[in-house]
Amino acid sequence: MNARFANKAIIVTGAGSGLGQAVAVRLAEEGASLSLVDVNRQALETTKAAILDAAPQAAVLLLTANVANEQEVEAYVADTVAEYSRIDGLYNNAGVEGKQAPLAEYGSEEFDRVIDINLKGVFYSLKHVLPHMKSQGSGAIVNAASVGGIRAVPNQVGYGASKHAVAGMTKDAAIEYGQFGVSINAIAPGAIMTAMVKGSLIQIGGEDGWEEAGKQFVSVNPMRRFGEPREVASLVAYLLSQEAEFINGAIIPIDGGQSQAY
Ligand code: NAD
Repeated sequence: MNARFANKAIIVTGAGSGLGQAVAVRLAEEGASLSLVDVNRQALETTKAAILDAAPQAAVLLLTANVANEQEVEAYVADTVAEYSRIDGLYNNAGVEGKQAPLAEYGSEEFDRVIDINLKGVFYSLKHVLPHMKSQGSGAIVNAASVGGIRAVPNQVGYGASKHAVAGMTKDAAIEYGQFGVSINAIAPGAIMTAMVKGSLIQIGGEDGWEEAGKQFVSVNPMRRFGEPREVASLVAYLLSQEAEFINGAIIPIDGGQSQAY
C-alpha cells in the first residue's frame, strides 16, 4: 500500500472502538503518525495493540480525554502539536447514540448529553485544530455525521439533532477555511456493524432478539447487509488524503444506498 500519510500527523477521536479504531489502523498502515483520543483508556490501549500488529513502526500517541470538555480538547490538541509539531488531519469521530425514546419521553438530560458529545465535541475540536491548519496553510478534516444527519431516524431526537448540526457546521467551516488550504467534509454512514449499532439493535430487539432485529433492519437496504468498519476507514482515509484535496463541504453517505430510497 502507498504511504499516503508518511510524515502526516493525524488526530482520531473516539479511536478506542468501532469506526475510530478501524480508521486509526488504516491510517497507520499508510504511514500516519497518530494522536488517538478516547474517554476510555483501556479501549485506546486495545487500538494501539491492533495498530502495532498491523504497522509495527507506527507512531502512536494515546490521549485520554472527554471531547465534551473544552479544556480537555485544548489539551489533546496542544499535546499533539507538542509531539508532532503539526496537525495534518483530524477525524472527528467520537460520538454516542443515546437512549431511544419518542420525543416527549426523551429525557432532557439525555438530550444535553448527546448534544454535548456529538455536537459540542466536534465544535471544540474544530475550534482548537483549525488555527494550526490555517497557519500551516493545509489540512483535512472529516466529521462523523450519520444518515441520522441527513434523514429522520425514529426515537433518536438527540442523535438526529446533533448529527444534522454536525452536517451544517461542516458546511459552514468548509466555506470559511477552504481559502487557507483546509478541506472539511462529513461522512454519513448508515448502519455499520460496531458496538454502537449492536447497542442500538439491543434497544430495539432486546438481548435475545437483537440479531433478528438486525436482519429486519438490513432487509430494506439496497445491498441487504450492514456496512463494515473497513469500508468507512477506506472513505475517511481517502478524504484525509491529498487525492481528495478539492472535495470540501461535502456530506457523503456510505450506506449501501439506503438513504436514497423512498
Ligand atoms: P462506538 O461506540 O463503537 O465507538 C465510539 C467511541 O467513542 C468509543 O471508543 C467511546 O469510548 C468513544 N467516546 C464516546 N464518548 C466519548 C467522549 N465524550 N469523549 C471521547 N471519546 C468518547 O461507535 P461507532 O459505531 O464506531 O461510531 C463512531 C462515530 O460514527 C459516532 O460519531 C457515530 O455516531 C458515527 N456513526 C456510526 C454509525 C454506525 O453504524 N456504526 C453510523 C453513523 C454514524
